[in-house]
Amino acid sequence: MLRDPKYNKGLAFTEKERDAHYLRGLLPPAVSTQQLQEKKLMNTLRQYQVPLQKYMALTELQERNRKLFYKLLIDNVEELLPIVYTPTVGEACQKFGSIFRRPQGLYISLKEKGKILEVLKNWPERSIQVIVVTDGERILGLGDLGCQGMGIPVGKLALYTALGGIRPSACLPITIDVGTNNEQLLNDEFYIGLRQRRATGQEYYELVREFMTAVKQNYGENVLVQFEDFANHNAFELLAKYRTTHLVFNDDIQGTASVVLAGVVAALKLIGGNLADHTFLFLGAGEAGTGIAELIALEISKKTKTPLEETRKKIWLVDSKGLIVSSRKESLQHFKKPWAHEHEPVKDLLGAVKAIKPTVLIGSSGVGRTFTKEVVEAVTSCNEKPLIMALSNPTSQSECTAEEAYTWSKGRAIFASGSPFDPFKYEGKVFVPGQANNAYIFPGFGLGVVISGAIRVHDDMLLAASEALACQVSQENYDKGLIYPPFSNIRKISAHIAANVAAKAYELGLATRLPRPENLVKYAESCMYSPIYRNYR
Ligand code: NAP
Ligand code: MN
Repeated sequence: MLRDPKYNKGLAFTEKERDAHYLRGLLPPAVSTQQLQEKKLMNTLRQYQVPLQKYMALTELQERNRKLFYKLLIDNVEELLPIVYTPTVGEACQKFGSIFRRPQGLYISLKEKGKILEVLKNWPERSIQVIVVTDGERILGLGDLGCQGMGIPVGKLALYTALGGIRPSACLPITIDVGTNNEQLLNDEFYIGLRQRRATGQEYYELVREFMTAVKQNYGENVLVQFEDFANHNAFELLAKYRTTHLVFNDDIQGTASVVLAGVVAALKLIGGNLADHTFLFLGAGEAGTGIAELIALEISKKTKTPLEETRKKIWLVDSKGLIVSSRKESLQHFKKPWAHEHEPVKDLLGAVKAIKPTVLIGSSGVGRTFTKEVVEAVTSCNEKPLIMALSNPTSQSECTAEEAYTWSKGRAIFASGSPFDPFKYEGKVFVPGQANNAYIFPGFGLGVVISGAIRVHDDMLLAASEALACQVSQENYDKGLIYPPFSNIRKISAHIAANVAAKAYELGLATRLPRPENLVKYAESCMYSPIYRNYR
């Protein structure tokens, strides 16, 4: 009981438990409460100056006392989210080889080809509800980190539990290791992954196919597989391929889309107009950019009963070659084609802002400092209140900082970012930037899928999640310039998202948990994992 993180309570084992379970003498005499343990740990954590030290201390806690780890995370979510998640998790992945102590997830490499089902059976837990899987090729905006990308599924699943209430034992982090093209890692003697260049084409797709088949064989129809941080040349294809046969969800494409749509819809209260009145310009036309663009177009299309082809026309994207326009159509990747509208070529973002005059500017390029002073000033010059979202993670890759957005727009911009920024005071007024991060969506979304027993993910479920999130922004939040509710209420928010997603799954006939609970919000709350210690008598 002391050595299994699932049961360990440390000093909080009561006198009776110490007697009943032969723990006498194995612990010092003091008996603590969970509250006191929490206070002590938070004190210790706050003494570390370096975020990575906090990350390592939290990892150690997770492996020692699971309930206490989640209690800490739930009660101090705003303080600890930047540690277990972006930006610190990015640094942890970069240094994963040297901080690696115990495996926290399943590693499936090319060596396991032909044996993936056996490998899944090696995982000690049987009943899995959510898998987060990466192949490490596009970790945050940090590029190919190979096997060290494992930090991401581990971090995402910690949030599935803390923010969405999925039981930790039902969560399975997986890294598929097909090599890495990161020279630095290949030459690093401490690298923990396969030391070869990435397998591609048939070899790659066969391994993923074996994995997806094994997952279904081992866990059935109801396990949610979240694809995370795959490079876009694989991400779109994998999603298209498996969404009709498996319960899959790509967080970078779909989760991000849902969270950004919620932010934009909420922002309408501040910037005015209907969704259909706005003009959108994206920097970055990859998974995040085109995923968001498509969901916004879909929402407008549904609300205004206008064909999707029409609603797409007010959404423009810039990639590394400039504005995406129809004269480039031939050479475009398939996911960019719907966005190639009639326009003369424009070579950079500033030119595009001047030509398109967007009311909403969204950064999804993975490249930091690309919303320059000129760009922010140009957007501000054509709008009373521009909406600026710098989504790229971690903080180093953010298109601009909160300070820059507020200063350069002279306090007029509504700003949100993928990684957190502190509130900023500009000319006496305090502006609180929102965090436009899929962490708002995926935990509640996953919970909704799990409690309804949904067998497929439908776009309408993403719209339902988005709608539920937007409804949670209060007047008090708006008054501070926030377009997302604070993370401190996230469990309540997740319950609402879960309920809306589940309701949609039932409506679409995709739910298998019958009969449908009457009050889905209450039901979602009642299903959530509790980090409070149990009594072992
Ligand atoms: P991706 O699929 O690789 O797409 C990146 C896009 O940015 C591509 O279209 C690329 O152009 C473009 N790009 C790269 N450098 C550029 C430059 N200098 N100028 C203009 N465009 C440039 O990546 P992704 O999955 O969309 O992710 C992008 C970023 O979004 C990452 O930093 C990630 O962390 C972040 N993200 C944030 C959230 C959130 O919740 N906040 C969620 C998901 C992703 P080409 O197509 O021409 O190469
Ligand atoms: Mn991601």
